[in-house]
Amino acid sequence: MKLSLIIPCYNEQDNVALFYETCEQVLSGKITDFEYIFINDGSKDATWKRLLTLRREHPESKLKLVQFSRNFGKEAAIYAGLQHAAGDYVTVIDADLQQRPEVVLQMVELLDADEDLDCIAAYQEKRRESRFMTFCKSMFYRLINKVCDIDFRSDASDFRTFRNGMAKAIVGMREYHRFSKGIFSWVGFNTEYIPYIAEERNAGKTSWSFKKLLKYACEGFLSFTTFPLRLATYLGAGTSLAAIIYLIVVVIQKLTGHIHVSGYATIVVLILLMGGIQLIILGMIGEYLARIYIEAKQRPICIEKEYLSYEE
Ligand code: UDP
Ligand code: MG
Repeated sequence: MKLSLIIPCYNEQDNVALFYETCEQVLSGKITDFEYIFINDGSKDATWKRLLTLRREHPESKLKLVQFSRNFGKEAAIYAGLQHAAGDYVTVIDADLQQRPEVVLQMVELLDADEDLDCIAAYQEKRRESRFMTFCKSMFYRLINKVCDIDFRSDASDFRTFRNGMAKAIVGMREYHRFSKGIFSWVGFNTEYIPYIAEERNAGKTSWSFKKLLKYACEGFLSFTTFPLRLATYLGAGTSLAAIIYLIVVVIQKLTGHIHVSGYATIVVLILLMGGIQLIILGMIGEYLARIYIEAKQRPICIEKEYLSYEE
């Protein structure tokens, strides 16, 4: 098997058939042997029915269908797809045709041409999003690259093709909170980035709201850096130093008789400030603790209700 396409689907009823047809047009003939792995991530529409129809109507194609028991998220869907992938190369691609199969061909050619390369990742050349969004994203990547040991590329997506070995390495990372971009960087391997232009979504709407993105960004942060925990030490050290200096000042003032009882404002401000800082730090520790709690339960990353493969 040359190539496995992993396609996470959440409410993509109007896209799956067109996605399949487009891939057939573009890939067949060019790539000898490839399979589709559709993961239905608890869609609330007719995605699963459409997938079953697709499988019935095209026995000549190699279709693997995975049905989750509920919505586990794209990251979990990618994980499930990787587990079923049999190809030498594995591609993660969206079902909404924003990511063109032509780019997959380009990725495969690049991997064929250079044995040293393990992964070809596509990044969006031009983004269709507001300035505010671009600003937020660039700030996030600046920050995370500063405090993390691994390198995050700001515009890289999870639209990528990699060799089987890298797929195995990713499956080996069994953490429940999955931040794909971080995982892709963390496992290492030689990655080359190529530009692509994201098309408009074919049908349906994006499942990413600003709130979801913010949560995802926090996930990335908490999964790949423990810097916030260290921040407590730094802040503590800083305020202690300031306190010692101020202590000396107060002692001198006392000795020289410069203290007239006032300073109400100073005390109130200091109490509030220190209380605030302590609560924030406590919250941060709580976030990590919560993750340890969830990971310690060793819950499965996803639950597959049904899995259909093709005849070998
Ligand atoms: N997706 C998924 N589970 C989810 C949300 C999204 O499998 O909970 C899939 C979705 O069907 C699509 C891909 O992930 O194939 C990217 O989602 P979307 O198009 O909503 O994101 P965007 O392209 O706006 O980043
Ligand atoms: Mg999309």
